[in-house]
Amino acid sequence: MRNNNDRNNKDNNAMRLIFLGAPGVGKGTQAKKVAAKFNIPHVSTGDILRSEINNKTILGEKAEEFVNSGKLVPDDLILDMIKEELKKDKYKKGFLMDGFPRTFEQAEKFSKLLNDLNLNIDKVINIIVDENEIIKRLTDRVVCKVCNKVYKLSDFKDGKELKCDCGGELYRRKDDSEEVIKNRLDVYKKQTEPLVEYYKNLGLLENIDGLGTENEVFERILAQLW
Ligand code: AMP
Repeated sequence: MRNNNDRNNKDNNAMRLIFLGAPGVGKGTQAKKVAAKFNIPHVSTGDILRSEINNKTILGEKAEEFVNSGKLVPDDLILDMIKEELKKDKYKKGFLMDGFPRTFEQAEKFSKLLNDLNLNIDKVINIIVDENEIIKRLTDRVVCKVCNKVYKLSDFKDGKELKCDCGGELYRRKDDSEEVIKNRLDVYKKQTEPLVEYYKNLGLLENIDGLGTENEVFERILAQLW
């Protein structure tokens, strides 16, 4: 797509990416790596919402029930949150959206917002993994309370302490229970999957096979971005 020197030497070379994919495809893990590689802020609406819930903010209180039951938080709350977030200076470098947009309304309003700011999306990365593998991954997932890094519960055998590299405690997300996972996959199919077609029609979509090691998937994504 362009090389890193181009990106570093021009002012107007911000990179704006959207990551699509069902829960459990490895979107968050890859999003963090790609954002670090291109030095752009990683925006995970799920992480922001979980932090608002932990901090018992007004937004957190409004969002809690939706998040814990695997339903989508209403569009107007999410769109206001994104509008506020994008006012920060750090987004002049671009952004990587992880978990947003998730509905047609969010996608269309986001396109309009960017259009009004004279900004465009460079690529939409859609990571694909089949449903059985997704359920296996999500029921085996633990997350760091501090930095949100994801680990496999099955890697912590023989009393190994559930701690992140950063020292943070690892926990199972409330919405990673089997019943809520089914809900989230349903919600994804009905409300978010249609965005694949939306971004394909805009000529922005790149499908990525999400099976394989973390680095294999990362390399596949980078191949679409350089
Ligand atoms: P995630 O961490 O991306 O799996 O998101 C966890 C939960 O946060 C979702 O199941 C929703 O309840 C909520 N959420 C995150 N992003 C959005 C969004 N763009 N629109 C609505 N709800 C969202």
